[in-house]
Amino acid sequence: MRDRGMGFCLFGNVALGAHYARRKYGVERVLIVDFDVHHGNGTQALVETTPGIHFVSMHQWPWYPGTGAADDRGPLRTVWNLPMPAGLSPQEYVETLVRGVDDATRGFVPELLLVSAGFDCLRGDPLGGFTLEPQDLGRITKVLVEKAMTWCGGRVVAVLEGGYRPERLAAGVVEVMRALAGVAASSGCAATG
Ligand SMILES: [Zn+2]
Repeated sequence: MRDRGMGFCLFGNVALGAHYARRKYGVERVLIVDFDVHHGNGTQALVETTPGIHFVSMHQWPWYPGTGAADDRGPLRTVWNLPMPAGLSPQEYVETLVRGVDDATRGFVPELLLVSAGFDCLRGDPLGGFTLEPQDLGRITKVLVEKAMTWCGGRVVAVLEGGYRPERLAAGVVEVMRALAGVAASSGCAATG
């Protein structure tokens, strides 16, 4: 939160990044997509009063930290919370998140997309009950990159968040980076970093 840490977080990196991009680079509209299994309550708290930032969070429900109900849209209705039960099919999580992104970008064309890439949404994570596989996160990332290509020339930054089984985290990161690099390669840009 603004004045205290929660979970494993000291700084709200993605929220800070969104505000920094707006202040430093004059980016007006930023979309944040959070697929970490926990509600991005810190991110929401730091961006929900900024109309130029739309925030989509899909998370297990009920679950820590207990916030992120679907009817919590933030004071400006710029927040799309997608609370989901554990144990659904991967497809249901993928479709719900993509639908949330579509809702959050109706009449709002992001100039930058920030992804809170939390790998505790993978099946078998000790801190979550979602069933996603690394390939599902690759699919989600591919969709996000394709959308970002139409919005803003593919400006996407994925930031590592949760993920508590290291081998699963690693496999998930590889798939997300593959999806990021795939589009970069086909558009003629070198994939770096
Ligand atoms: Zn998490």
